[in-house]
Amino acid sequence: MIPYSRQSISGADQSAVIRVLKSDYLTQGPEIEKFERSLARYCGVKYAVAVASGTAALHAAYVAAGIGKGDEIITTPLTFSATANMALAVGAKVVFADIDEKTGNLDPISVTRKITKRTKAIAPVDYGGNPASLTAFRKLAKKHRLILIEDAAQALGARYYGRRIGSLSDMTTFSFHPVKSITTGEGGAILTNRRDYADTLRLFRTHGIQKGKRDWPAWRQEMLLLGFNYRLTDLQAALGRSQLRRLDTFIAKRRAAAERYFKFLKGVPLILPPRELLKTSAWHLFPVRLPKGAAKKRDKIFAEMRKRGIGVQVHHVPVHLHPFYRSLGYKRGMCPKAETFASSELSLPLFPDITERQQRFIIRTLLQLLR
Ligand SMILES: *Cc1c(COP(=O)(O)O)cnc(C)c1O
Repeated sequence: MIPYSRQSISGADQSAVIRVLKSDYLTQGPEIEKFERSLARYCGVKYAVAVASGTAALHAAYVAAGIGKGDEIITTPLTFSATANMALAVGAKVVFADIDEKTGNLDPISVTRKITKRTKAIAPVDYGGNPASLTAFRKLAKKHRLILIEDAAQALGARYYGRRIGSLSDMTTFSFHPVKSITTGEGGAILTNRRDYADTLRLFRTHGIQKGKRDWPAWRQEMLLLGFNYRLTDLQAALGRSQLRRLDTFIAKRRAAAERYFKFLKGVPLILPPRELLKTSAWHLFPVRLPKGAAKKRDKIFAEMRKRGIGVQVHHVPVHLHPFYRSLGYKRGMCPKAETFASSELSLPLFPDITERQQRFIIRTLLQLLR
């Protein structure tokens, strides 16, 4: 089976983890801070706070932003459900705006129409590793005094007008799940330039408990807010730091694979991602779409490719169409562009170590089935 994505673990990655296994601390040791510093430096921001998952990162970011009951968060339905779920978890109302069908990213014009007095934050997602329209969202956020929280789970290593993703929003969240740009098994992080956000994020990941203040006795601790155990372990942080050294290579390999897909798919009646993303996207996905009329064939092609050992995927089931969201009153027709996009989309396998031979087999099979 060719998976749709797969981690790449080197001997150096393994040694980094083994070193921690033999050390004094498996968690809450020195590795977390080192990983956070490397991550912050890589992205060009002041603070990085590592947490247990990309989902925990979103939860923490929403809490640090002070989002709660009575607040609205505007986000995209074309995402993994965690982006919206964590907004519900803090008691906010989720408002879905529609996408730009060219890129699959949240459409700033649609977002503008959804802003109300209750809107507290905009949470765009960098779909497939391609940065959202961050300039437009920054402007909107400034004008309406909203907090910009970017779910960049798929986009570590991407660039936006020369700047690294992670440095452009009030808070940016990442995931280190094995299918993402780098992995720590499970893991995530929040990046920010704001000291107050970073302080709250750190509190939130350890039960809201503060300790170790200067002139405090060692036993003293104060719980300041309702937090969780959202810590990353030192084992994971060591793996993350080792992986981070290889991140640029991973992105270059993903880009080369994407370039091959563009070459092999030239002239094929499919809607491809915009080619101008080649140099800027983190290439988490290579999403192709079947044109109007042929979209019905998607499910057949999907099933047949899976049968032949090709791990195609669909990204994503629009969040508002999940039974749980429907039970809250969200309906088909609320975001027609996202719905059409999702029903005609097929993600081709893409990961750093995919071979040209595997890609040729994938395309040959796809072309056969399209006929
Ligand atoms: C993967 C992903 C998440 C969740 O990250 P986890 O580490 O699996 O919790 C959230 N949002 C998006 C857009 C993702 O792709």
